[in-house]
Amino acid sequence: MLCDHEANKKDWAPMQNGILKLHPYCNKCGTMKNVSSDKGKKISYFVASLSKLRKILEKKGYKISDAQIRLIVKELSKVEGFEDTWWITFSKQKEIFISIVGKYVRVSRDVIESIL
Ligand SMILES: [Zn+2]
Repeated sequence: MLCDHEANKKDWAPMQNGILKLHPYCNKCGTMKNVSSDKGKKISYFVASLSKLRKILEKKGYKISDAQIRLIVKELSKVEGFEDTWWITFSKQKEIFISIVGKYVRVSRDVIESIL
């Protein structure tokens, strides 16, 4: 079960740049909240990105089927924590998205990155 995260405690932890900052953490599961500007996005953002990708590729004569889209979205939603914007960063989501899309659609990493 996913934790619905609730915080009223804070603790010192280093930011990505190494500077210590007070981070809120969940008092149920203990997960530290991502307080950087690199914030994760909802799955709907990635679904929208997929239709952008679809349009771009269609112009180049490559068709992505509904089944491919369904499989990608299904696999994304199965990744543990993918939608947990409490801690996940957009960079991390991007990596996951690029590797999963790459499994179903023969397209370069650059093209996938360009639609995010
Ligand atoms: Zn929690």
